[in-house]
Amino acid sequence: MKVTEVAANVHLATGTNVNWGLVTDGTSVTLVDAGYPNDTRALLASLAAIGRRPEDVVAIVLTHAHLDHMGGIPMMTSRYGTPVVTGEEEVRHARRDYLQQMTPAEMLGQCRHLRGVTWVGQTLKAVLPHLKMALTDVRAVPFDVALDVPGGLVPVSTPGHTNGHTAYLLPSAGVLFSGDALVTGHPLSTLPPGPQLLPSVFNHDEPRMITGLRELGALPADILVPGHGDVARGALSDLVARVRTLA
Ligand SMILES: [Zn+2]
Repeated sequence: MKVTEVAANVHLATGTNVNWGLVTDGTSVTLVDAGYPNDTRALLASLAAIGRRPEDVVAIVLTHAHLDHMGGIPMMTSRYGTPVVTGEEEVRHARRDYLQQMTPAEMLGQCRHLRGVTWVGQTLKAVLPHLKMALTDVRAVPFDVALDVPGGLVPVSTPGHTNGHTAYLLPSAGVLFSGDALVTGHPLSTLPPGPQLLPSVFNHDEPRMITGLRELGALPADILVPGHGDVARGALSDLVARVRTLA
């Protein structure tokens, strides 16, 4: 687990090939996502690394209900009663009214390359006992309205990776937590590090993601904190333009 300071009151933590964000306001914390199920210790360690306790987490804002982003949530809700929110459509996905996640067969299909074999090994270890995880107690929040949570994060609709994918804008710091709507790297990516879409096998509706990039690029942020890969700095419109070049 690695924690880096992104801006004042904003940290990025990296667990098993995935990131989560920590936004502080005094002693209070908002978590943006919660890592893989086997990242729960790392999640607690990331709070300790910034001098906070799990009890200080006022809310978890979820970008989307894939296991690598929601894994630590059951521990936080059962032990600490932490409230969890996301956009309305993603609440249904979190409940598992339906599932838009890579299938086991698609996962095994990644074993054609050595980097895929390594990734599949790490991922299976991280998720296997938790494949049926569902979150029944997630509250829906409206888009484009600041939440009453530390940092006043603003949920932004960014559908495509999943139908209800929700990014979070932190206007005071010019930070966008983009989740998996826009990333900067992934163990399975064949592109060099930098703004990019996840490999297609991960994306439920890639054309919709690509269409949405224009709107995403218009958001007032110059620090991109993705669900996978390193932080990228620069006007969001420029970062998005680099995605188009690569595509
Ligand atoms: Zn995802």
